[in-house]
Amino acid sequence: MNLHEYQGKELFARYGLPVLPGQVAGTPEEARDIAAQLGGLVVIKAQVQAGGRGKAGGVKLAHDPDEACDRARDILALTIKGLPVRKVLVAKAADIAKEYYLSIVMDREKKAPLIMLSAEGGVEIEEVARFAPEKILKLHIPVEGLRPYVARSLMMQVFPDFAQAQQAAAILLKLYTVFMDGDCSLAEINPLAVTTEGRVIALDAKVSLDDNAEFRHVDWDHWRDPEDESGWSRLAREKGLSYVKLDGDIGCIVNGAGLAMATMDLIKHYGGEPANFLDIGGSSNPEKVTAALEIINGDGHVRAILFNIFGGITRCDDVANGIVASLKESPLPVPLVIRLTGTNEEAARQILSDFGLGATTSMDEAVRMVIARAQEVNA
Ligand code: GDP
Ligand code: MN
Repeated sequence: MNLHEYQGKELFARYGLPVLPGQVAGTPEEARDIAAQLGGLVVIKAQVQAGGRGKAGGVKLAHDPDEACDRARDILALTIKGLPVRKVLVAKAADIAKEYYLSIVMDREKKAPLIMLSAEGGVEIEEVARFAPEKILKLHIPVEGLRPYVARSLMMQVFPDFAQAQQAAAILLKLYTVFMDGDCSLAEINPLAVTTEGRVIALDAKVSLDDNAEFRHVDWDHWRDPEDESGWSRLAREKGLSYVKLDGDIGCIVNGAGLAMATMDLIKHYGGEPANFLDIGGSSNPEKVTAALEIINGDGHVRAILFNIFGGITRCDDVANGIVASLKESPLPVPLVIRLTGTNEEAARQILSDFGLGATTSMDEAVRMVIARAQEVNA
């Protein structure tokens, strides 16, 4: 799960990281009120989960509450990288002398958190990474953790001023605690700004939480933005399905992530385009099957649906019962191709044929068939 900037800053503030006060607004009038409360120069920032908001016109300064209201109205009308702006952060503006870049990201290959630091922070960091990668310092954090002297010596390589290096080192140590306590896969501050008074502050916050750790963070529900999640993604999450929507027209319902990947590969191999990745998991709960069909039906681009079930712990007869129960309730608007093999496949085939449905045991055949069906529908 990715946090919005205002949420990331809320998390940062809990850990004592220096952020400037601010609040989130959904309307220009709310933005005006917040600006009036804050007083002085404020910055209005689009709250969408996309980088490059600054370049897209999603970050603007305002000198007084009325200007804040106008700028908020402009920004709330924007769509940045396909995402409509529904909220803005109104925060006290900083007087920036220099922008640095600081992040901690999980490096899966090295199995360790990786610190990235650069004196070339700000909106051009992607260009720096591409054309001058040597300007980004990288340091892996060992299992013992991050020692204060390591943080300080790292910062002294980049900050010319000792007092600023010390502030930055304190920020890095706190960011590391955020990263570890929070089960983050990314905690990024860009820009890490030095103000004209020489204060080092986090002017932006980009935090990704590792969904696999959700079970030990009861507070994460509070971060979830229902408007950012499509209704289908939410239903999938609530029913325990892994669902990723894609752009193709062949809906796939598969048990197991590996088989789901293989199914998508095979669809591509035969010239088709998968409409989704959907893993109903290892258990065979007919309710999951019903929810899966409902989700796929909700995608208006789907022209044919493939069930690909390898029965192990998952019992094919349970899946067949799920399919039949679901079709009794609401018939499918598109053709359905079923492949199942493994545990209780005989019983499954009987259940399906009693309902007038066929099933193959061959994955290859099923994939070719579903592509042909989708093309018939397209023709
Ligand atoms: P991003 O473009 O989506 O990463 O959004 P940022 O929050 O990083 O803002 C982009 C740029 O806007 C920053 O690099 C700053 O140059 C500028 N900016 C952000 N906040 C402030 C602020 O409080 N004062 C000033 N003067 N500029 C700001
Ligand atoms: Mn930024």
